[in-house]
Amino acid sequence: MHPAHDLLAALGVPAAALRGGTLPVRSPIDGSLLAQLPESDDAAAAIGRAQQAFLDWRSVPAPRRGELVRLFGDELRAHKAELAALVTLEAGKIGSESLGEVQEMIDIGDFAVGLSRQLHGLTIASERPGHRMMEQWHPLGVVGVISAFNFPVAVWAWNAALALVAGDSVVWKPSEKTPLAALATQALFARACARFGADAPPGLLQLLIGGAGLGAALADDPRVALLSATGSTRMGRAVAPRVAARFGRCLLELGGNNAVVVGASADLDLAVRGIVFGAWGTAGQRCTSTRRVLAHAAVHDELLARLERARASLPIGDPRESGTLVGPLIDGRAFDAMQAALAAARAQGGQVRGGERAPVGGWGDAWYAAPALAVMPAQSAIVCEETFAPILYLLRWEHFDDALRLHNAVPQGLSSAIFTNDLREAEAFMAAEGSDCGIANVNIGTSGAEIGGAFGGEKETGGGRESGSDAWKHYMRRATNTVNYSRALPLAQGVRFDF
Ligand code: NAD
Repeated sequence: MHPAHDLLAALGVPAAALRGGTLPVRSPIDGSLLAQLPESDDAAAAIGRAQQAFLDWRSVPAPRRGELVRLFGDELRAHKAELAALVTLEAGKIGSESLGEVQEMIDIGDFAVGLSRQLHGLTIASERPGHRMMEQWHPLGVVGVISAFNFPVAVWAWNAALALVAGDSVVWKPSEKTPLAALATQALFARACARFGADAPPGLLQLLIGGAGLGAALADDPRVALLSATGSTRMGRAVAPRVAARFGRCLLELGGNNAVVVGASADLDLAVRGIVFGAWGTAGQRCTSTRRVLAHAAVHDELLARLERARASLPIGDPRESGTLVGPLIDGRAFDAMQAALAAARAQGGQVRGGERAPVGGWGDAWYAAPALAVMPAQSAIVCEETFAPILYLLRWEHFDDALRLHNAVPQGLSSAIFTNDLREAEAFMAAEGSDCGIANVNIGTSGAEIGGAFGGEKETGGGRESGSDAWKHYMRRATNTVNYSRALPLAQGVRFDF
């Protein structure tokens, strides 16, 4: 029996659920077959169950809904190691990153529990005497969540924790490359529901196992009030018009092409640390991975030398081993895409270091790649694309305006950072005419974000914001209420209608 089955059993997924289906699930670590899962064949029925659950759940007081999320957090705390080990097996992340992913689920749960007592609206001054105006936030409906392989559980948790305290039910379509972590998460959630009792209606969380067609079914179904879709820009382009055609709500978290600007005054120790983790950690498979470094001419050559030293020394290997920092790509297609991008970079005048296949464990169907560094003469076409692999493009600038221009001249707008000790540069980077991204950092890298802030980006990244700040408002509907406690009925704007 594969070790994944032990993990899944400990998390509450029986071995019988992992066999006999049509969806093969492979570990990127060694290409081994983890499961052959049955695929969901009736998305409409699952959405119907979630809709039914919503009708009950919306009437449960929000702090009580928060209690369910708190119990789920307990399950996550108790099973953090097992769930993280499963993420490593299925997505190929190194241990500390998988643990970090589960920690993020716990953190957003805590955030949501607090939020369950703070879903407050405004009281607004009415222009009419004897009137009161206010806002209420009500549960929205069924929330569809489409998630990507590279954050197989955390991104769902960002959405689900908020949706659940908001009074919504959830239908989750995880990546077909990482459905096991979703099954395990659903089993942990079921345990929390069992401890919570009868207030948790059956059907509160539905899982759709399978490919893009199930995502399309969520996009088309008018009972899905909000579709939160995380993945490639290509996916967002397919999903968003379908949701718009039925006037549904969409929250899009799509591709990034994140840059670090390094100023002449930068602390290069910090910059190198931030860039190396951002570019090559997670084998370059984060939406917030650092893809471009824009270096001031005065520091360009030293930065290049230091990045190259770090790049060449990063331990590539089995992510279950403690010394490994760079694990596998998700599959052979990801490796091919990386090679195609490097060939394009060379053809566009780049000098490429690294990028070759790394032989790990002698596994034929596992795809490990040496991190790549490409020194580019200009921000050419390939640099403007997101290649989901550990490739870092290095570009040079002399005037800060040029750095900003280069920075913003890509179609994506997720995460960005500047390393500088120059207050003017730092503030200009964060100002209206500075970085055009949803996230703009100073003296930390682009990769990884805390759950307390709103997460998401502009342009082809899709404009969505989820996780912290006031992102919860996406998951609720706003009602404006005006109450007349006078004995007259004055009309707004002084309109007269006497009859
Ligand atoms: P992907 O677009 O191939 O798949 C993501 C999800 O969308 C999967 O569940 C897939 O089945 C579904 N899907 C794909 N095409 C669809 C369609 N036409 N209709 C409905 N559903 C569809 O992405 P991936 O390879 O799993 O993940 C990598 C991508 O995700 C990168 O572009 C990365 O930047 C992006 N990403 C973005 C964020 C963010 O928060 N902005 C977070 C993680 C990943």
